[in-house]
Amino acid sequence: MSLVRQFGPVDDGRDCEHPSPCETQAVARVPNPVEIASAGRELCPFHLALWADTRGDEETLCELNVDDLAATDRWLQLDTVPPYLDREVLYRRFGIDHRGLAHFCETGRGPDEDDRVITVDRRLELDRAYGPPAHVGLDGWVDHVDRKRGWVEVDHDVVDQEVDRDE
Ligand SMILES: [Zn+2]
Repeated sequence: MSLVRQFGPVDDGRDCEHPSPCETQAVARVPNPVEIASAGRELCPFHLALWADTRGDEETLCELNVDDLAATDRWLQLDTVPPYLDREVLYRRFGIDHRGLAHFCETGRGPDEDDRVITVDRRLELDRAYGPPAHVGLDGWVDHVDRKRGWVEVDHDVVDQEVDRDE
């Protein structure tokens, strides 16, 4: 058995090796530029798309025959997400999480109304709607996600403004 693993499509049922951590099944093995001469990294469709986008390298995906495995329904950069979403109320974009879902927030008006957050994919399809835990607020919740899973990108100006309005 060879210790050198080939880059390209994988179908071994293992989880994605992105350090977010990610529990989605891996679909392709690609070189890992951080580790010299490493065996590379097996990634899920979203992290494969992010890998190519971050490196500005779509060609390698094509060479490895894995370009059609990269996710097309996820967000990769915050500035491509619309600034606002009108869903009965106006939501402001504030981040893209470790799954490539965009988060939008709407701050509750007054003490009886909680902050609300929605997540959407690149087709703007709703993934879920929820309130950040009241005892940490939006700011604390953003930090919590950052520690546990990481963000692709957060608009801290929006989060800070929302938090200020709360006070
Ligand atoms: Zn992944």
